[in-house]
Amino acid sequence: MDLETNVRAVRQRIEAACARAGRDPNEITLVAVTKGQPPESVCAAAALGLTLFGENKVQEAKAKIPLCPGRARWHMVGHLQTNKCRDAVGLFEMIQSVDSLRLAEELNRRAEQAAKTMPILLEVNAVGEASKFGCRPDQLLADLDRINALPRLEIQGLMTVPPWAIDPEKVRPVFRQMRELKARCEQLLGAPLPHLSMGMTGDFEVAIEEGATLVRIGTALFGARPRAGA
Ligand SMILES: *Cc1c(COP(=O)(O)O)cnc(C)c1O
Repeated sequence: MDLETNVRAVRQRIEAACARAGRDPNEITLVAVTKGQPPESVCAAAALGLTLFGENKVQEAKAKIPLCPGRARWHMVGHLQTNKCRDAVGLFEMIQSVDSLRLAEELNRRAEQAAKTMPILLEVNAVGEASKFGCRPDQLLADLDRINALPRLEIQGLMTVPPWAIDPEKVRPVFRQMRELKARCEQLLGAPLPHLSMGMTGDFEVAIEEGATLVRIGTALFGARPRAGA
């Protein structure tokens, strides 16, 4: 596994997807997902110019982040439990995985205590898979106003983890549905939402073609995870 080759290949694939979709590659931010990877991998990636990293567990992030370069910035991309909100507010610059009003309220409370404003994405379970986190689109629309009213949270967009499929084309309708849902939320809020976080190793090109602004990539950069991190 050669990280430099992988980073270059992923960047080229992002650019090619942008070219197909008529998008500017500067609209896409690569989030390098480092769950299951040691701090050395983060250091190596940072040395190659990657700046934004994603973790899916607070406990792992809490142990790892202090051992990583200080210029690395971190997003929480995994399910967050309410009893981990305090740590999460201290560790991350964005929580991409806010999946309930209750969690949003607790995050707001912890951000208030820390005198911070926390950018968030609302995680959507677009197809209603029982095994996935995220709120259903109708629930999201019902709770949007109340989440938006929480003074210490700043809704910046939506995030999704779609069903896994061998053929990424199968996931395209889900990505399209997410783009439409974001437009719907923008209408309800009367404000633009800058981010749509979708696309992982298996499907990021299709996600970019359908409007992703944040792609969360682990395996294509770092290879298979050394231990179960999913
Ligand atoms: C692990 C993970 C990723 C990255 O997955 P890869 O398939 O390794 O690119 C992206 N998003 C979330 C929420 C994850 O848990």
